[in-house]
Amino acid sequence: MSKKHNFGAGPCILPQEVFQEASQAVLDFNGLSILEVSHRSKDFVAVMEEAQNLVKKALNVPDGYSVIFLQGGASLGFLITAMNMARENKKAAYINTGQWASKAIEQAEMAGLEVEVIASSEEDGFTYIPKDFVVPEDVDYVHITSNNTIFGTQFKSFPKTGKPLVCDMSSDIFSREFNVADFDLIYAGAQKNLGPAGATLYIVKDEVLGKSSLGVLPTYLDLSVHQKKESMFNTPPVFSVYVSMLNLRHLINNGGVKAQEELNNKKAELLYNEIDNNPKFKASVNKEDRSNMNVVFFLADEAADKERFDQLWNDAGIVGLKGYRTLGGYRASMYNALPLESVQVLVDIMKKL
Ligand code: PMP
Repeated sequence: MSKKHNFGAGPCILPQEVFQEASQAVLDFNGLSILEVSHRSKDFVAVMEEAQNLVKKALNVPDGYSVIFLQGGASLGFLITAMNMARENKKAAYINTGQWASKAIEQAEMAGLEVEVIASSEEDGFTYIPKDFVVPEDVDYVHITSNNTIFGTQFKSFPKTGKPLVCDMSSDIFSREFNVADFDLIYAGAQKNLGPAGATLYIVKDEVLGKSSLGVLPTYLDLSVHQKKESMFNTPPVFSVYVSMLNLRHLINNGGVKAQEELNNKKAELLYNEIDNNPKFKASVNKEDRSNMNVVFFLADEAADKERFDQLWNDAGIVGLKGYRTLGGYRASMYNALPLESVQVLVDIMKKL
């Protein structure tokens, strides 16, 4: 197989070894295919348990938190988090750092919550992470998006809000170390750094479960149901959980999140250095808020250089570099499994232009 350099925003590249093990299990997982195995079988229950334990190990999840795998993507997570975190005031504070945060706000409002947007970088095209804001006393929780996949911004440290903190970590979980205890609820679609699309990861502080002020929640949307049933309330996304488990094993066997973060820092430094030093390119994002996962950049002179640059990277076997459809330019997504060598290939091409 000729391997491309995959800079796509997601679903994303996973380690080659994981692809190989996963394909083997499609043919033979203890005598059956992983695609036909019962989710209630002893073998798959063991997979689910291992996946949950490896999440805890990789992120040093403290006691008193549960790891849950659901379906519906982070998009359903927008609604699930609002419904489960709603308390007496039915009011929440959101920091709007881009399209995904805006969708989270929309869903919280659909759940019947009053949303106060306490900070937003919208007027500046979401090119920075707002840092000055006041958290109102009467909100039930604060919601942030750790990494803005589209505009390429990232919280480098997390705000202390004095309120339960909820975070959509879809596009940077497992890419860097952080303190789970700072959060009450974390959620993330699997399809960036965890595994294939299909599973959605929730890490939730047990004490927040079962306290929604919205009354009895629709069963699937109630996280306490899934916690009690150990992610087996209904058929879980078996293959996605299995491959996530393989990927977590691989991550931990290769130095864990700490080693991965060091590699991710190197990749980001290599590419941002080129963007900053090559007059043919420019970046729009505030330097201190630049994402290490999604690097958004533009040509200084599109009319002169676009055709040739596009030809160069296409010829080099690079895929997924096209910018987000409403933003234009380029977006190099550099999730965990993208090798440093792929970033070097891109940088070499940028030098050639
Ligand atoms: N939040 C963020 C930060 C994302 O990047 C994405 C998807 N790329 C989503 C939410 C939506 O996730 P899903 O497609 O799993 O619903």
